[in-house]
Amino acid sequence: VPAKGPPGPVRVPPYACQRPTPLTHPNTSLSEALEVLAEAAGFEGSEGRFLSFRRAAAVLKALPSQVMAPSQLQGLPHFGEHSCRVVQLFTRIFGVGVKTADRWYRDGLRTLDSLHEQLQRLTQQQRAGLQHYRELSVPVQRPEAEALQQEVEAAAVDILPGATVTLVGGFRRGKLHGHDVDLLLSHPQEGLEAGLLPHVMCRLERQGLVLYHQHRHGHPEDAARRTRHSHTMDAFERSFCIFCLPHPPGAAAGGAHRRAVRVDLVVVPVSQLPFALLGWTGSKHFERELRLFSRKERGLCLNSHGLFDPEQKMLLRVASEEDIFRHLGLEYLPPEQRNA
Ligand code: ATP
Ligand code: MN
Ligand code: MN
Repeated sequence: VPAKGPPGPVRVPPYACQRPTPLTHPNTSLSEALEVLAEAAGFEGSEGRFLSFRRAAAVLKALPSQVMAPSQLQGLPHFGEHSCRVVQLFTRIFGVGVKTADRWYRDGLRTLDSLHEQLQRLTQQQRAGLQHYRELSVPVQRPEAEALQQEVEAAAVDILPGATVTLVGGFRRGKLHGHDVDLLLSHPQEGLEAGLLPHVMCRLERQGLVLYHQHRHGHPEDAARRTRHSHTMDAFERSFCIFCLPHPPGAAAGGAHRRAVRVDLVVVPVSQLPFALLGWTGSKHFERELRLFSRKERGLCLNSHGLFDPEQKMLLRVASEEDIFRHLGLEYLPPEQRNA
């Protein structure tokens, strides 16, 4: 029996979808530091550097133990000289809470100052976001998200018996707070979901739950075609909303303070539900890598609408998320292991 030396190098497969990534892990400050650098590179429009830092951060999140010395990074995928040097630099300098990147960036907003300067150039959607910025910059807590899911489900089922409302996004991955609430609306009988969303919105508006919403029509005829091209945006009917929660946390019920929460409502035909579930559960990085893996390693096109085989020129049929992993020859990862 060989003597027990220092732990050998950990073998980490290169794609995030090939390995479990838990929500909590022993390298938080390092992965957050790398994510800040990724975000900064993204702000500068440097997509290549953004991806390198983001991939290195994702590798750290999948490690079973804390990185104590840069030598432990040797042999890990996506840890080139640069990321290694950065980790060396940031070891023990970064604490928790460095992740202050503007949440609205992904919705097209930049810094608050620059926003005020060009208010007239903002879309209506962005203006609504800015108006509620202060309230919205407070993270949504899981109980609030669950309460909202029930509220929307009650409205949907009342209008269309059997309708389903599923909480997706970060909360489905086990996060305790998030920047918004993502909900998928569907119905077990294909086609019945059509036309549901405007009625649900009307109902919720009458209940005083809606501060702002913007409806986008779906493009059902696009769905199959979209699977063949790697669009990041899907073609589902959608509503971008800002909801008002009935009871602000920590304040007396019925108080004057309103609490604004960003909500995404997405309508999904049941035949595409497994793909939409997978696509809307995230994380964004996990999705990006899963699609890259499908294309590069399996020659298949995956998105929130379907899985397309360009050689056979056909869409693959599935009944669950497990089926999708099976088709791709991947070990199934439950939502709480997709926090890459
Ligand atoms: P947070 O907790 O901060 O909200 P999140 O993981 O829920 O984090 P979101 O931005 O809400 O992040 O996105 C959730 C998932 O939905 C992601 O996987 C993202 O890729 C997907 N998604 C978001 N917007 C769209 C869109 N317009 N079209 C297709 N997919 C989208
Ligand atoms: Mn979300
Ligand atoms: Mn969202």
